[in-house]
Amino acid sequence: MDEIQANFKTQMSLKNIELTDHQLVQFETYYKELLAWNEKMNLTGITDREEVYVKHFFDSLSISFFVSLRDIKNIADIGSGAGFPSIPLKIIFPHLKVTIVDSLNKRIQFLNHLVQELHLTDVKCVHGRAEDIARLPEHRDNYDLVTARAVAKLVVLNELCLPFTAVGGTFVAMKGSDIQEELDTCAYSLNELRSKYIYTRNFHLPDVDKSTRNLIFLRKFSPTPKAYPRKAGTPLKTPLM
Ligand code: SAM
Repeated sequence: MDEIQANFKTQMSLKNIELTDHQLVQFETYYKELLAWNEKMNLTGITDREEVYVKHFFDSLSISFFVSLRDIKNIADIGSGAGFPSIPLKIIFPHLKVTIVDSLNKRIQFLNHLVQELHLTDVKCVHGRAEDIARLPEHRDNYDLVTARAVAKLVVLNELCLPFTAVGGTFVAMKGSDIQEELDTCAYSLNELRSKYIYTRNFHLPDVDKSTRNLIFLRKFSPTPKAYPRKAGTPLKTPLM
């Protein structure tokens, strides 16, 4: 184990997650595959190894600081890109059934390859727009936990992600430091999508800047009305506000 891996292990241990040697090997394989495929396609702007461990791996795992993942059966990660946050979560919580949705097929191809290399089971990578996939009965109102990191503004995300969330389930929007305006403008969309704001939790990345990250927790209380999500592209073009 080198210094970067030792730091990662220590930071996770401070959050009561004890990484095994096998998991550390999986994260290192993830890093290497990410870098190799990033040569052929745009997966991430962050390529420095230490930064990937902090800004992608640690950050993705932050949901587990606030949610008991052991009590969650299935999770949908909308706009997962190179697999964040769901692949790091799956490495640490292998019991999770993970569904990944992304509209870029190249990223889905990378994720299918990664899932094989990491020997992960129960990970389904779906190519398509969230607006279309959320209309399929097997995905609609179905997931205990839905996540989205760096995909869109909250008001747009609500329409993309809450239709996947089960009644009583949670949608967590993973955000940077500045969230007030997004919170101030999301009341109408939450009401339309039969969901409520629960709370925001924040933490600092263990990087030199101690950057702040916010996790916005929303809960769905009734099935999504038939009208939502509207057709692909409309949530972004004409947000519910
Ligand atoms: N969640 C990853 C992360 O945190 O690194 C990726 C973020 S990337 C900036 C946004 C991703 O969302 C892209 O991979 C894009 O293809 C996907 N995306 C954007 N709109 C989408 C939609 N309507 N349905 C499905 N995927 C979408």
